[in-house]
Amino acid sequence: MKIFALFGNPTGHSLSPLMHNAAFSKMGIDARYVPFCVENLEDAVKGIRGLNICGVSVTIPFKTAVMKYLDELDDSALKIGAVNTIVNDGGRLTGRNTDWIGLSIALKKSIKIDKKTFAILGAGGAARAAVYAVLMEGGTPIILNRTAEKGRKLAGEFGCKFYHIDDIGKIKADCLINTTPVGMSPDTGKSPVESAILTNFRCVMDMIYNPLRTKLLEDAEKAGCTVLSGLDMFVHQGAEQIKMWTGMEPPREFMRQVVLEKLMAS
Ligand code: NAP
Repeated sequence: MKIFALFGNPTGHSLSPLMHNAAFSKMGIDARYVPFCVENLEDAVKGIRGLNICGVSVTIPFKTAVMKYLDELDDSALKIGAVNTIVNDGGRLTGRNTDWIGLSIALKKSIKIDKKTFAILGAGGAARAAVYAVLMEGGTPIILNRTAEKGRKLAGEFGCKFYHIDDIGKIKADCLINTTPVGMSPDTGKSPVESAILTNFRCVMDMIYNPLRTKLLEDAEKAGCTVLSGLDMFVHQGAEQIKMWTGMEPPREFMRQVVLEKLMAS
């Protein structure tokens, strides 16, 4: 049996074990995907080699910290500055990033990215993946963040504009992407922005997928925007991991259904 793992702390909330195990089973692969609440990251990475774990998903708070323990980093992981996927090739560990691919696939289903403008709320790991995805597809990202220093640094690295989040009323863009955790369960009554400014965007995407309809998306729908939850991004980032680990195309629609059913039941 092949073993795959999730490294995070905490990991109890994650739907990745459910989604990945369902996918492996549907694909007829004899594998288990196990969540580990990591206490010591360096030792955990050594354990990948020691236990011959075939692949690992990395989540909060280790996406950046894990980079220094790996043998190699692919171009996207290096530029984004975060790893969410480790591939174990005979003991040689490569850090990769599928968050940006997941976002890119999810966005392209609903909106053209090329030559369009994307206002990105936040300047953490998810925002970095979003900026990279938009640039890779020929779009223009604009960063908005609460902590000006962090936002300016990110904007400087990728050569884009920065505004303080309080100045969002000044921005008009094709799409607004929320990468902050504001509105995530259990704090579901909150939105990162005032509803009045949402008419400045044609499309609004929330990276949050629990709940599926955040306050931001409810407000955006009322304002006439096309809305997108983080569910499709989550499914595609996970599907891309399985593709990297096995070389096989995973059952994406089935994976989406499994996660959707779980979210609807909770
Ligand atoms: P992170 O590195 O901690 O960054 C969070 C960002 O949100 C920071 O820029 C922070 O601003 C901002 N923020 C936090 N609380 C805020 C508040 N009350 N008001 C305004 N801004 C606030 O986290 P991350 O790894 O980027 O993840 C962010 C979110 O994306 C999480 O909800 C995560 O679940 C989601 N995500 C979803 C997917 C998916 O597949 N759908 C994938 C990855 C991440 P400061 O700089 O001012 O602190």
